[in-house]
Amino acid sequence: MRIVLLGPPGAGKGTQAKMIARDLGISVLSTGDIIRLAIKNQTPWGKKAEKFVESGGLVPDEVVIGIVKEKIDQDDLWSGFILDGFPRTIKQAEALEAMLGERNLSLDAVLYFAVDKEEVIKRLSSRRVCENCQATYNLLSNPPLQEGICDRCGGKLVQRDDDKPEVIRQRLETYEKETKPLIDFYQKRNLLYVIPSNGPIEEVYNKVKEVLEEVTAR
Ligand SMILES: [Zn+2]
Repeated sequence: MRIVLLGPPGAGKGTQAKMIARDLGISVLSTGDIIRLAIKNQTPWGKKAEKFVESGGLVPDEVVIGIVKEKIDQDDLWSGFILDGFPRTIKQAEALEAMLGERNLSLDAVLYFAVDKEEVIKRLSSRRVCENCQATYNLLSNPPLQEGICDRCGGKLVQRDDDKPEVIRQRLETYEKETKPLIDFYQKRNLLYVIPSNGPIEEVYNKVKEVLEEVTAR
């Protein structure tokens, strides 16, 4: 099964990806990880990506596409994968479609993890990190034993700038703007499945399983 995952930060996409991978016995290809690995292994595309990463710039579409293709070829994953973080642009989506088409393959499903903005803001802004040992907590799902104090080392718990509500809101708006064209792209191809993701992990995963069963039966 070949699946693409879409969803804003805080929607729990990474957790769901791992659960799908475990149940279906297929690999998760997370773009950030693949790029880091390609650079580390100095693959042909990794070397190209390195220049952009080193200069602090964005890795251009064509290089991201090259790296994803290189990885799928290398590990012989054409029969099944879960893509997380790719495609991110229409150009990448078209390239993915073309590379599958060359092999007479196509995607089976695109899962969009939809979560209310206010819910994501609540989840992410509840994160706290220890100033001293960097241990992370979540006031909702994984609170420290004593308020404001690290269980592990007694250090002070603080909120990262990235986790401040106004910064999260900005990130969500950027994500929505970037992703809207992709949602339309996959909707037109009848590949898009919306997974309501406000609830607990297990509940979201049950919905994922339902969708994947439907896709398999198609
Ligand atoms: Zn600590």
